[in-house]
Amino acid sequence: MGLIVVSNREPYAPRRNEDGTLTWVPSIGGLTAALDPALQQAGGTWIAWGEERADIRAVDLPQEEPRYRLERLRLSEAEVRDFYHGFSNRALWPMSHYFIERAKYQGSGWRAYVNVNRRFAEAAVRSYREGDLIWVHDYQLALVPRLIREALPEARIGFFWHIPWPSSEVFRTLPWDREVLDGILGADLIGMHTPEYVGHFLSACRRALNAETGEGEVRWKDRVSRVVDRPIGIEVETFEQLAASPEVEEAADRLRRTLQTQILLGVDRLDYTKGIPERLEAFDTFLDRHPEARGRVTLVQIAVPSRERVESYRQLRTQVEGLVGRINGKHTEGGWAPIQYIYRGVGREELVAHYRAADVMLVTPLRDGLNLVAKEFTACSADGVLVLSRFAGAADELPEAVQVNPYSPERVADHLLGALNMPLEEKKARLERLRARLHESDLHAWANGFVRELAGE
Ligand code: UDP
Repeated sequence: MGLIVVSNREPYAPRRNEDGTLTWVPSIGGLTAALDPALQQAGGTWIAWGEERADIRAVDLPQEEPRYRLERLRLSEAEVRDFYHGFSNRALWPMSHYFIERAKYQGSGWRAYVNVNRRFAEAAVRSYREGDLIWVHDYQLALVPRLIREALPEARIGFFWHIPWPSSEVFRTLPWDREVLDGILGADLIGMHTPEYVGHFLSACRRALNAETGEGEVRWKDRVSRVVDRPIGIEVETFEQLAASPEVEEAADRLRRTLQTQILLGVDRLDYTKGIPERLEAFDTFLDRHPEARGRVTLVQIAVPSRERVESYRQLRTQVEGLVGRINGKHTEGGWAPIQYIYRGVGREELVAHYRAADVMLVTPLRDGLNLVAKEFTACSADGVLVLSRFAGAADELPEAVQVNPYSPERVADHLLGALNMPLEEKKARLERLRARLHESDLHAWANGFVRELAGE
């Protein structure tokens, strides 16, 4: 019995060496980090969009000691535009994060979405051998479970939706709400990050499809799909070890020495769901109210470039950079500037050094499926405070974080003061309890657990 993983992103990307050969480098990101070991163990096939070097249709991975096959789909320019940037990132993404005013529901995007989903499904069906388990991932591929089911009525199919599932009132703004639900319900086992998302999904099935639902299950087209909340974890031990390494300690010290202030940290893709402008405003309010904090605290904001082909992301960048300029212009004095803004992704070691150096981590999305950064900081910090939006999926699992409403910069500013002044003992006690929970279900337990459930074990 093998495993077939179907996801938009591929687990390794090709890099050309000087001698013309290719090296397949593991992609950064939680999902691929979790599934690669699971697939290596089970053997099988991973089907994904081969973004670079699309001429390479398949490769055995990992390169040094191949354990599974990566089948790479080639998407045309128009497909990338309409399926990926279009329907996935301009319709499903904003809608699922409650930004319906940003959602563009266009027929051309939908048609491309259907076609590309069909191609992923066909590739999965071609790779399938009797007894294989199929695990499809995320909002780009919601129709794939049904399309596979039509070809393989007996296959065991799992699906994981990695972003929020919104209230059915919001979901029903999608003109293809029934098609998306029907697509997902081709799966036997459907996973989401929180009980709330599962509840919203069940209610959407009742309202849009008139399907019969029970506790964590939906009956539809003579089949029953189980719907479960299984929040993804992180590689806790890897992060802990890295955080304790001399290289990271040194880099964290350097950062502290350079800034010579308390450090607030934000780490996000530059996405409108992450609440970056609201966070900057909260910090501005904080500095207005507490002039004595000037020169004593710096906000380091790492903003990773994202989806720059989508207009609203370019606008967000302009907005954020304008705010950083305005706030720095207003409060800077005596060689100190309140915000240090980094517009690029950083490597794992540098990222962990930032987690380690931070006194307060600000994770304040307006809406987030889970938020791995919150968990990573928790694993890495020695005595920092996590300030966490109640609208991040991870909030359920991290009750000892200082939970805030990111829509109120004034309230966030109040909590910021509390976080900066929290006694050391309390900080450590909170971190300890948070970290214990991270250990209960790490990334590998999450992936293996889902596969076992799918197998019916
Ligand atoms: N990350 C990174 N480099 C950076 C900033 C972030 O590799 O410079 C990683 C971070 O470690 C985390 C992921 O990007 O694993 C972000 O995941 P999250 O769930 O927080 O947000 P998403 O980007 O998936 O919405």
